[in-house]
Amino acid sequence: MSGDAPPEPRQVAIIGSGPAGLTAAIYCARANLTPVVFEGEPSSTSDQPGGQLMLTTDVENYPGFPGGIMGPELMVAFRAQAARFGAEIRTEKVSRVDFTERPFRLWVGEDPGGEPASSAHAVIVSTGAQSLMLGLEAEDRLIGRGLSTCATCDGFFFGGQEIAVVGGGDSAMEEALFLTKFATKVTVIHRRDQLRASKIMQDRAFASDRIEFLWNHIVADVLGTESVEGVRVRHTETGTERTLPLAGLFIAIGHRPNTDLFRGSLAMKSNGYLITEPGSTRTNVPGVFACGDVQDDVYRQAVTAAGSGCMAAIDAERWLEAQHDAKHR
Ligand code: NAP
Repeated sequence: MSGDAPPEPRQVAIIGSGPAGLTAAIYCARANLTPVVFEGEPSSTSDQPGGQLMLTTDVENYPGFPGGIMGPELMVAFRAQAARFGAEIRTEKVSRVDFTERPFRLWVGEDPGGEPASSAHAVIVSTGAQSLMLGLEAEDRLIGRGLSTCATCDGFFFGGQEIAVVGGGDSAMEEALFLTKFATKVTVIHRRDQLRASKIMQDRAFASDRIEFLWNHIVADVLGTESVEGVRVRHTETGTERTLPLAGLFIAIGHRPNTDLFRGSLAMKSNGYLITEPGSTRTNVPGVFACGDVQDDVYRQAVTAAGSGCMAAIDAERWLEAQHDAKHR
């Protein structure tokens, strides 16, 4: 006998381990599909095992936790539940995929030239998305501690306080308007003197007596060690800096889906989000399914991601059954 035979293809490989990927893993494992989950590798961004919830503190809107739960704790529980039913979880980042023939092949590592790390009859893509950040060192320190990228998740913590939103697009207006339910004052810090947001969102924001605009300013630094205490802003033309005391800062300068890996393999919208058939998780490649934020530029919630992870597992299971039936007919 010469050499090791390549491992048998898996029924399902799952790429990504946020709420979508791990929910898909729980359902696939319980359907005896013995999934392998490539959970990614630790990093300081949301492109890491556990996804964006790893960068949040209290999660108070995930059903089932009336007292709230810490984001990382929730993801540890998701992971343990997937492992309990037999999902194999590999702390590796997929660096190349080949979806041109079945079984599909996945590679990991910096130099994905050799043997694939895994092959699978069906693949579930749940690589998530990342909020764009300003690139300040303070962001790593204060994310989840007064610095947030999600008003729906964290607005509630700022009742009666003064906060700010960075950005001038629809997201920033939406976040600012939502935050007026809690904060006494919301300052929108925008780098130009005109908003990018749609007219209707601009009008709503201008009509709010709790929203103020700080035009032609960028955030030069976020202040505070344990939590946000203020921001240092800089005028884009004069360079003049000043400090605004604030309890919270919301960054709303856009999102980027983690889809670089699938360019040329899967159909995506012009903004890079994967396209799935309406009402399903099917991508344009039969046998490849997508769930969670990687295909959702609208809701972007942990609970919607988890729901679509369940859908992907069921879609994959049914698709595999149909393939099996066709072969044995
Ligand atoms: P966006 O339209 O790309 O706006 C991003 C905003 O952030 C822009 O105002 C931009 O400034 C600013 N920005 C970008 N990088 C920055 C940086 N490094 N520092 C400071 N400011 C920075 O993104 P979005 O608001 O997330 O919206 C994305 C898409 O979703 C849009 O098509 C939007 O219409 C849609 N959306 C719709 C709704 C709704 O209809 N309710 C809600 C949310 C999003 P500049 O203007 O100077 O470029």
